[in-house]
Amino acid sequence: MNKWITTVVVLFVAAVLVVGCGSKNSALPVTGTNTGQSGITDGNAVSPDNEESDTVDTPTDNGDSSTEGQTPSDSQDKGPDLAAAADAESVAVLVNKEFALPEDYKPEDLVYPDVRFTFKEKIEKRMMRKEAAQALEELFAAAENDGVYLAGVSAYRSHSTQTSLFNRYVAKDGEEKAKTYSAVPGHSEHETGLAIDVSGSDGKCAADDCFGGTKEANWLDEHATENGFIIRYPDGKESITGYKYEPWHLRFVGKEIAAEIAERDITLEEYYDAVPVTGK
Ligand SMILES: [Zn+2]
Repeated sequence: MNKWITTVVVLFVAAVLVVGCGSKNSALPVTGTNTGQSGITDGNAVSPDNEESDTVDTPTDNGDSSTEGQTPSDSQDKGPDLAAAADAESVAVLVNKEFALPEDYKPEDLVYPDVRFTFKEKIEKRMMRKEAAQALEELFAAAENDGVYLAGVSAYRSHSTQTSLFNRYVAKDGEEKAKTYSAVPGHSEHETGLAIDVSGSDGKCAADDCFGGTKEANWLDEHATENGFIIRYPDGKESITGYKYEPWHLRFVGKEIAAEIAERDITLEEYYDAVPVTGK
C-alpha cells in the first residue's frame, strides 16, 4: 500500500517537474514565433505586385467584343489568339502592309541558325529568333533526308537596314513602284526575326520568281508547315497578303498555327480574320 502511494507521489512530482520545464521552455519559442510572424507580415507587403498582374488581365476584356456571349474557355478553343497578332514578341505576330511593328522593336533572342547559307559571313541577315532558328535547322535536316539541299538567303533585317534598303529602292524606282516589291520600314516580316528567304544550295533563283516550281520550292510547299513554317505569300492570294507569290519567303508561326493554315489552305491574314491589306 505504501509502495503504491509512493509511486503515485513520485509520478505526481515528476509530472509537475515536466509541466514546469515545459512551460519554462514554451516561453522562449513564443518570442521566436513573434519574430517569425513579423517576417510573414513583410511577405504580405508583396501584394501590390499581384494587383499589377490583375491589370495585365484587362486586355482580355477587350478581346471579348468579338466573342460576345462566349466563356473565356470557349473563345480559346474556337478562335485564334488575337492578342498574339498584335504582340511583336509573339511568334504568331501579324506584320503586313497594314500592321507594323513598334518603331523601336528589336528581337531579344536572335541567334545564328546552324544551317547552310548562300554566303559565309556571320552578319545580321543570317540571324533568326531562337525558336525559329531551331525549327529552321530541323526543316533543313528534314529536306536533306529527302535529298533536297536548301540554303538561307536572307533572314533577320533590322529596322535601320530595312529603312536604308527601302530608301535605296525609292531613289531608284520612286516610292509607288518601290512599295510593290519592298516593304515600308516597320512592315517587313524580316524585322521580326521569324522570316527567311531560302533557295537551293546552289543559290540560283535566290528570292526570284524562277525559284517557283523547282524541286526545293515544291518540297517546301509540301513540308514547311511540318516544322512550323508557312509559305507566307502563296500563289493566288495577292489580294489578301498584299504580295505576289513568293515561294522562297518562309515565316515561322509555330507548328500548331502552321498546321491549321495548311489544312484550311489559308493565309495568316485569314487565320486572324484580318482585313485584306490591299482593301479589295
Ligand atoms: Zn522575304
